[in-house]
Amino acid sequence: MIVATTIRAVRARRQELDRLGRRVALVPTMGALHEGHLSLVREAARRADEVWVSIFVNPTQFGPNEDFDRYPRQLERDRELLEAEGVALLFAPTTKEMYPKPPSVLLDVPQLTAGLCGAHRPGHFRGVALVVVKLFNILRPEVAVFGAKDYQQATVIKRLVEELDLPVEVVVAPTVREADGLAMSSRNAYLHGPDRQAAAILQAALRAAAAALVAGERRGQVLEGIVAAHVASEPAARLQYAAAVHPDTLEPLETVGDRVVLAVAAFVGGVRLIDNLVVEVP
Ligand code: AMP
Repeated sequence: MIVATTIRAVRARRQELDRLGRRVALVPTMGALHEGHLSLVREAARRADEVWVSIFVNPTQFGPNEDFDRYPRQLERDRELLEAEGVALLFAPTTKEMYPKPPSVLLDVPQLTAGLCGAHRPGHFRGVALVVVKLFNILRPEVAVFGAKDYQQATVIKRLVEELDLPVEVVVAPTVREADGLAMSSRNAYLHGPDRQAAAILQAALRAAAAALVAGERRGQVLEGIVAAHVASEPAARLQYAAAVHPDTLEPLETVGDRVVLAVAAFVGGVRLIDNLVVEVP
């Protein structure tokens, strides 16, 4: 596995692959890799000749009171995991390499980021959009694989690719979960003792709302209320939002049609967790 830390090195490798006609599938990450990330790597391997992974804890997507400084960093372990998966190239740039000066470009998709996480993390998706477009321009992957766990992020990226005519195919792969349903996340490492058990409430709450939907409940607000009530039943959890939104526009649904995204964000033991379920109405 090539480990590249500079844009120059990775561009040189990309030019070689262009000459060989080899296709690259990229998995962008912030590291502290888990099975969720590795499932994206395996999906990427099915879609191209080489899998490339980026590990970059992107400062522009963290708010001033968020966990940028304490975000888990374990590059050596990550490198071994990726090597074992047969990844061809790891791009792990420094902040200076990615942002030699403070960025002045704003990439904003206000229609998609007004609600859900966007409402609670101002500037977050601008940071995501900027770093993803930069990574696409630096690495020029034919395919890029993202996780459904970050549904709003994947939706924003698909929209950027569409409207900016970026020559990359975006693939969204399913959320990988722990045995009790908790969506895998690098931030789960912050959860200790009873908080770890309590965190399973997010998935349980979404499942309860999905069950009500299947049983005939179509009112978005009622479904949101079911998610909220379940989260409230767990003393260690504090709800940030519960939403029933359209899968493409991310707008709240008064009445659910044939598809809905049920999404939730909550703090458990001070750790902000998110989860979602896409439900097809029978
Ligand atoms: P992160 O390192 O958290 O920025 O995530 C990098 C990529 O992995 C994103 O596309 C995430 O959506 C995806 N991802 C994170 N957790 C999971 C999971 N549990 N299952 C599937 N994909 C995930």
